[in-house]
Amino acid sequence: MRHVILGAGPAGVIAAETLRKHAPYDSITIVGDEPEPPYSRMAIPYLLIGKVGEDGTYLRRDADQFRKLNVTVLRQRATHVDAARRTVTLDNGSILGFDKLLIATGSKPVRPPIPGMDLPGVQPCWTLENARHIAELAQPGAKVLQMGAGFIGCIIMEALALRGVELTVVEMGDRMVPRMMGPAAGNMIKAWCEKKGVRVFTGTRVEAIEAAQSVVALPSATAPAPASAEGGFIARAAAMLGLGGKSPAPPAPEWRETAPAPRGSAMSVRLSNGQTVEADLVISATGVKPNVAFLKDSGIECGQGVLADERLQTNVPGIYTAGDCAEAFDLATKARVISAIQPNAADQAYVAAMNMLERGAVLKRVPQINVLDTLGLISASFGDWQGVPGGQQAELTDREGFKLLSLQFDADRLVGCNSIGWTEHVGVMRGLVEGRVRLGEWKEKLIADPTRLTEAYIAQGQAQARWAQAGAHV
Ligand SMILES: Cc1cc2nc3c(=O)[nH]c(=O)nc-3n(C[C@H](O)[C@H](O)[C@H](O)COP(=O)(O)OP(=O)(O)OC[C@H]3O[C@@H](n4cnc5c(N)ncnc54)[C@H](O)[C@@H]3O)c2cc1C
Repeated sequence: MRHVILGAGPAGVIAAETLRKHAPYDSITIVGDEPEPPYSRMAIPYLLIGKVGEDGTYLRRDADQFRKLNVTVLRQRATHVDAARRTVTLDNGSILGFDKLLIATGSKPVRPPIPGMDLPGVQPCWTLENARHIAELAQPGAKVLQMGAGFIGCIIMEALALRGVELTVVEMGDRMVPRMMGPAAGNMIKAWCEKKGVRVFTGTRVEAIEAAQSVVALPSATAPAPASAEGGFIARAAAMLGLGGKSPAPPAPEWRETAPAPRGSAMSVRLSNGQTVEADLVISATGVKPNVAFLKDSGIECGQGVLADERLQTNVPGIYTAGDCAEAFDLATKARVISAIQPNAADQAYVAAMNMLERGAVLKRVPQINVLDTLGLISASFGDWQGVPGGQQAELTDREGFKLLSLQFDADRLVGCNSIGWTEHVGVMRGLVEGRVRLGEWKEKLIADPTRLTEAYIAQGQAQARWAQAGAHV
């Protein structure tokens, strides 16, 4: 059996290892278009703050891991898939045949259509290569402007702040993390960041980025000589002021406009609120989209991502998908969702690989979970945090204490929540939302006091055990 995996990120690597574990003699090839050994993007912030070196981001420490597993790794880009012929074309022109295919090509940052995005000091924070450039430019005291304050943006921000840069964040939504947090929570995170010294503009767009015409003093033939014992600064100043001395007053230094600034030098960023911000580095963190363009005319159906069922199979038998590029079927909500976090990539890769081996695995959930540490403030969102039509909600806000709990109910089930600060409730919130636990009378108690989550969880867990037992005797 020939298995081909497109993408050498977490999903691709876990799939390859799962395949090898259960199929010692099958042929397994990973095709990945990045030059480094497979690595974890979520380790990039740790690289930026010097907690790990580049090798600390690698998914597998052993450089020989894939050779030992007899997995071929090709550093190429897949440019086309022909589902009917069961072939993949690579960017070097070669063609790979497959029996089973996994598409695990992840996602890539979107590039907003803003003038100046092609300046060398503007870039995303997505790859190890990006991280190297950021580390070079984001020196202590450097002026950094970050476009976008979503989940990834906030993670990057933390690393930038720890590098000691002067940070400005510009978010076009009306609050920070607008796709993860409601208005009260998003604005609380903004207030926290401002308190920590980050300048944050929400409801604001970057309109243009221009290379600054930097103004520098150039030495000229008539410029003053460097200070010396005989004719130092004070002597020259006195001469300029006509306070005696033999030398004529030197002319003022010549100032002139230079050409557009080279890589890493100042840029002017024009904002929709009329302000202009100077920056040495602009980081674009304005969202990502699945890497699926190469599947055009392949016969594999795509929406935003590659469409898959609960076994991660696409519309083409034997072709699977996993990770950030997958629009996977969530059995609990009966909807297809992209949930671009690494634990989902790992779970989906495992299920896809087991099905490539015809071992009948099913993905039960595509958890919608985000837990974020923004400059030390822990926030979390689960499930339908925006609420559902006809549902009820409860919100507890402590602005001074930077704590918030927002619960969303559908009938007597907790279907989503936002929290800031209440780290002790994170596990319980996840359990109640994912378990679709019926709260009964506890719903009203939670509306009156959302902090009683743990009590509700314990009480309803016991109640459910009693119902289950009662059911077993019927
Ligand atoms: C800075 C940062 C911080 C993050 N922090 C967190 C976090 O704290 N928690 C969390 O859960 N998630 C985090 N994430 C998201 C997480 O990294 C992704 O969810 C995860 O990488 C998805 O894994 P994947 O294998 O699906 O995709 P990827 O890791 O993107 O791997 C896909 C690979 O396929 C390659 N590829 C694409 N197209 C082709 C092609 N045509 N041919 C060959 N190869 C191709 C890509 O270049 C890439 O190497 C973070 C991401 C970033 C950038």
